[in-house]
Amino acid sequence: MSIKHAKEFYSNVDVVGDNDCWNWGGSKSPAGYGRTRRDGKHISAHRLSWVIANGEIPEGLLIMHTCDNPSCVNPNHLETGTCKENIIDAHFKGRCSISMLNRHEALEVIYLLSIGHNVSEIARVFEKPYNVILSIKVGRTYNWVRDYYKDIISFPGLGGCHE
Ligand SMILES: [Zn+2]
Repeated sequence: MSIKHAKEFYSNVDVVGDNDCWNWGGSKSPAGYGRTRRDGKHISAHRLSWVIANGEIPEGLLIMHTCDNPSCVNPNHLETGTCKENIIDAHFKGRCSISMLNRHEALEVIYLLSIGHNVSEIARVFEKPYNVILSIKVGRTYNWVRDYYKDIISFPGLGGCHE
């Protein structure tokens, strides 16, 4: 990261105290995460902030907020984690839209998907939005449930944990 990049970046940030949230003043995603660009490519503002403060993000790691404020880019409020940790963290903090199923329901959904039932059918049975079931199918959500049970039950044909 060049100093010029960093200056440009911080011109969009409300830099306050070391321990306060530094809110991103630029454009944001629907979930509230700051959006910016790095060398012409889209990147989340909090990820870029972490890069400016710490260097490149090790491959496969997410940058998580310790403050639960998606628009915060204070490096002191950011830490690395894995996809799985992020989902477990979000689940226990109860702020994730996915916490609409309990562990047993999620397990049932994962199992039904893995044996070939389709998303809309399951969504109807569980009375949940289509997208909730689809996120499970593509491995965006509830991977922790799958991991938790993977020694007991095999789930063929489901997506992995991707950022
Ligand atoms: Zn913060």
